[in-house]
Amino acid sequence: MTKRRRIYEGKAKVLFEGPEPGTIVQYFKDDATAFNAQKKGTITGKGVLNNRISEYLMTKLGEIGVPTHFIRRLNMREQLVREVEIIPIEVVVRNVAAGSISKRFGLAEGTPLPRSVVEFYYKNDQLGDPMVSEEHITAFGWASPQDIDEVMALALRVNDYLTGLFLGVGLRLIDFKLEFGRLFEEDRMRIVLADEISPDNCRLWDARTNEKLDKDRFRQDLGKVEEAYQEVAKRLGILPDGPGDHAAPKMMQ
Ligand code: UDP
Repeated sequence: MTKRRRIYEGKAKVLFEGPEPGTIVQYFKDDATAFNAQKKGTITGKGVLNNRISEYLMTKLGEIGVPTHFIRRLNMREQLVREVEIIPIEVVVRNVAAGSISKRFGLAEGTPLPRSVVEFYYKNDQLGDPMVSEEHITAFGWASPQDIDEVMALALRVNDYLTGLFLGVGLRLIDFKLEFGRLFEEDRMRIVLADEISPDNCRLWDARTNEKLDKDRFRQDLGKVEEAYQEVAKRLGILPDGPGDHAAPKMMQ
């Protein structure tokens, strides 16, 4: 087996050099962290499920014309993506109050927001990903005003589409985090959706019971963490490959 060059190890993924120039292999780990990595643990099978869930959502988004870095899934834990220059901003879209917005504004968890809200955080673990405004982003040169407009428009399209998709399988999309990258093609630069979309970076509640089916189960020690990730995959009609890869993805009604 040829050993690929490891480019970067993050909290939930390892990035390897891809087989062709301009490609990267994302390897999904079972490691979980919360509260800026102060809480650490393992969610058995999470990497396999997130690889599948992110493949599914990125593919669906690609089909409606949202440009993404996703190329194809390679195996249970790996997917091939385009190499992009990551914009160092975490883009959070919120529909319902939970997590940090509840704390910041004293809003009870579960309060619907008057409209979808987009927030930006500077991607910097040492600083604990501080919230930033467009002013900071443009003044420090992390992105141009045009980049921000593009990112906002894409984030809202993703929100509209995923809200409907999840509701269709009985899940409420409370909030989520996206990352974007710049893709350079000949003399053109395009902004594309990057990273992953999974229960690690979305809040998903059961539409009937409001049961949490995302990483909050790990953050808040609610138990049944693995089961929550499995439930999301099951509702989306995708389950990890069985031994020997016999099981084809099956749509659930
Ligand atoms: N989120 C994330 N990575 C981060 C911070 C937040 O994926 O570093 C996601 C989180 O899962 C949630 C949304 O972004 O779906 C909003 O998170 P929030 O600001 O409420 O922070 P948290 O409660 O996670 O500290």
